[in-house]
Amino acid sequence: MKRRRLWKFHGGVHLPQQKTISTTMPVHAAQLPKRLVLPLHQHIGASAKAVVEVGDNVLKGELIAHASGYVSAPIHAPSSGTVVAIADHPIPHPSGLHAPCIVIETDGEERWVEARPYDDYLHMDPSHLRNLVREAGIVGLGGAGFPSYIKLNPGADKVIDTLILNGAECEPFITCDDMLMREQPEQIVEGLHILQHALRAKRCIIALEDNKPEAYTALSAAVAKSERCNIIEIVQIPTIFPAGGEKQLIKVLTGKEVPHDGLPLHIGLVIQNVATCAAIHRAINLGQPLISRYVTITGGGVSQPRNLEVLIGTPIQELLEQCGALDIEPQRLIMGGPMMGIAVHTSSAPIIKTSNCVIAATDDDLPSPQPVMPCIRCGACADACPALLLPQQLYWYARAKNLERIQEINLFDCIECGCCSHVCPSHIPLVQYFRFAKTEIWSQEREKERADLARQRHDSRLERIEREKAERAARLQKKKQALKERSAGDSSKKAAIAAAVKRAQEKKARQQTKEPSANEEDSSQ
Ligand code: SF4
Ligand code: SF4
Repeated sequence: MKRRRLWKFHGGVHLPQQKTISTTMPVHAAQLPKRLVLPLHQHIGASAKAVVEVGDNVLKGELIAHASGYVSAPIHAPSSGTVVAIADHPIPHPSGLHAPCIVIETDGEERWVEARPYDDYLHMDPSHLRNLVREAGIVGLGGAGFPSYIKLNPGADKVIDTLILNGAECEPFITCDDMLMREQPEQIVEGLHILQHALRAKRCIIALEDNKPEAYTALSAAVAKSERCNIIEIVQIPTIFPAGGEKQLIKVLTGKEVPHDGLPLHIGLVIQNVATCAAIHRAINLGQPLISRYVTITGGGVSQPRNLEVLIGTPIQELLEQCGALDIEPQRLIMGGPMMGIAVHTSSAPIIKTSNCVIAATDDDLPSPQPVMPCIRCGACADACPALLLPQQLYWYARAKNLERIQEINLFDCIECGCCSHVCPSHIPLVQYFRFAKTEIWSQEREKERADLARQRHDSRLERIEREKAERAARLQKKKQALKERSAGDSSKKAAIAAAVKRAQEKKARQQTKEPSANEEDSSQ
């Protein structure tokens, strides 16, 4: 087969991989925890809404919270048991805040709700297929967790030329997608067929880095068995961070740039993560919603780093114990990779749909931050930035809290990869400044939206009061008019009565005048 031409994206960094430590053992199912903690907000978009109450018994796979908007995903019970709480609980979030969660006490029976597989998806309308993916609660398992069904709806006028499956797991330590590709390649290829049918994509590429030879071999064998292997290409790309970023991967595979403020589908491409693809296979072919995922448990803080198949909602502490937890400081717990992951403040926080890795890191794994020094304007950060930004300038504007100017130089194109911070000789935590600036902008926007809403409410209240006043005045006017008319009617009635009385009196008087003449006649006789 002709080798595909590959392109390079700007910047990027080569990082120590630290991956082999967690790939020596096959993937096992993690032990069933006594309690599952399911945050209602597990992904980008609106939180799900609970449809169960405390005391309800639930079956494995049963819907426990429904999606509450277009960008939202439902949640299903990962095991059978009883809902024992719907309350705030620590979640894996950099703020360390608590958030509403459904807590299920498992009964150990793993009783499934009745599964409804759809093996005839080839005869299914793409919109029906999209709905099934939505109902299964599937979100992107490799990133921010964007609900997957949305990416399956490019619009009637869009032609999808290529579907790309992203197996480029470019952050150090994380190996869950690598292990999935090694151990479940058929699930990925099955999912790919479903996605290809839903999108009517002309061709498909499975992309992975050249540091995953076992995964490449396993996928090649699975694709070779597929009936539609002629439209599937497996491409190995150079190992450099962040090759797994959506825009960077598209650049490497096609040489195309996703337009600023645009989406891959605007240039005829759709990208899905390999684990998401396997989840779609399970949803459609087996009728199983998203209730578990592969998670890498690694770092010097555990004696047996490995990948486990974990039920969503399993507390991190239980997984650390199953992997031989050593004594570690809580601040060294990271969810995700060392470049883009988040610090987890407590091991009682649960695994959520987007949790691909937990690093119980020691100082050897991730050295403590060095003292920050002034910027020397060396330009290394700009050379490393894969989004072609000027991190040094972003930094100045972030520090100065010039939120207008920082947006003008495309802060929101920053993918928060951390390459700039990684290469900065002054050890400036640049990416943290950019995250802070984004959060500030979002909170100002929310504040403005709230103020706009309050003003709108105030204006419409005044409008309503004015309208009611005018309506009251109109009603009063109408009433007065009616009274007037009635009294006018009454006076004419009175006049008519008076006239009638007068006529009657006159008649009577006339009659009385006539009667004496008759008497007079009588007396003369
Ligand atoms: S890499 Fe650091 S020191 Fe160099 S220009 Fe960028 S922010 Fe300044
Ligand atoms: S964190 Fe943002 S600014 Fe820094 S290298 Fe990555 S994309 Fe560029």
